[in-house]
Amino acid sequence: MARANSKFIDEIKTTESFNAVACMNCGVCTAICPMGLDILPRQLFRYVITGIKEKVLENEETIFSCLLCKMCEQNCPADVKIAENIRTLRGYFSQKVFGLSRN
Ligand code: SF4
Ligand code: SF4
Repeated sequence: MARANSKFIDEIKTTESFNAVACMNCGVCTAICPMGLDILPRQLFRYVITGIKEKVLENEETIFSCLLCKMCEQNCPADVKIAENIRTLRGYFSQKVFGLSRN
């Protein structure tokens, strides 16, 4: 069973900003995504906010499959900066998981 880690959101934020607290889990983003990324953004963002690090790490492929097309973001009723959050997650993977530096 996945364990919650209350420090995980801070770990993510050390790379860039991440904010999805306004998400109301409406499902518009899932319905509209041309890549059919059903976990992005709502479920994945929830894992970040609640500190389920293991689940975020499991979804590396999905995070890097996103086109950053912003179709979800443009239709989000809560104005969640979805693409920016996904970029932040990619930055987290690059720096903290793959060990790459930002130059
Ligand atoms: S469209 Fe916006 S508010 Fe709705 S689930 Fe997606 S991120 Fe959350
Ligand atoms: S930005 Fe990513 S998650 Fe959003 S609609 Fe485009 S491919 Fe899907």
